[in-house]
Amino acid sequence: VGLQVHQFPCLADNYGFLIQDQASGIVACIDSPDAQAVLAQLKLRGWTLSLIINTHWHHDHAGGNDALREATGALVIAPAEVARVSRPDRVAIPGETCWVGETGLQIIDTGGHTLGHVSFHDPGSSVAFVGDTLFAMGCGRLFEGSPHQMWQSLQRLASLPPETIVYCSHEYTEANCRFALSVDDDPAVRQRAERVADLRALDLPTVPTTIGDELSTNPFLRAPLLKPGLSEVEAFAALRKLKDEFCG
Ligand SMILES: [Zn+2]
Repeated sequence: VGLQVHQFPCLADNYGFLIQDQASGIVACIDSPDAQAVLAQLKLRGWTLSLIINTHWHHDHAGGNDALREATGALVIAPAEVARVSRPDRVAIPGETCWVGETGLQIIDTGGHTLGHVSFHDPGSSVAFVGDTLFAMGCGRLFEGSPHQMWQSLQRLASLPPETIVYCSHEYTEANCRFALSVDDDPAVRQRAERVADLRALDLPTVPTTIGDELSTNPFLRAPLLKPGLSEVEAFAALRKLKDEFCG
């Protein structure tokens, strides 16, 4: 029982995710970066898509919704902001639960990258799908929200159990590593950078990560330690600005 997660690369540096509730066999995709890629992965596994679940409205997350809905008849469950790309059949509201068969995904407000960004946490299987909010050693750019909103969102994810397996939506880890090394000389960061380099040299994914690994090596979660003397939000904002301007 629990949730089976199938991760696959698509577009330039996105990951797509198909999830299956083992009790019922019900299948959902988390985001729809590339409808054809999602359909090919479904076919490969002999899975039937019932639900399309979105984290935010960006095209590399919701752009495949309509083609997938047309091809499969799946229902779209998404934050209201996704309506600008594709009409949700049900709106995903933070604090509520999104059911995939017998698996209840808790909907978490993780606004900041976009205002209505949400993440999904299954406490039963200890997995979380965090879209473009938290990355391995990084976090999403603030396209719509304020540093305060994003810091609050990151704290909601950071407070999940440390063993939580975190599925983020992009393979950005090598670049995130270069930035992390420029602001944080903690040995854990250097050790992780070596592991990341080894994985990427073999063209292997660095996703998923865990909350525990991010707490110890992610410069954005460690912002208050790296910028002492500033408030937590100011420290986070300062690091986010440095990263935006970083040419590593
Ligand atoms: Zn995005």
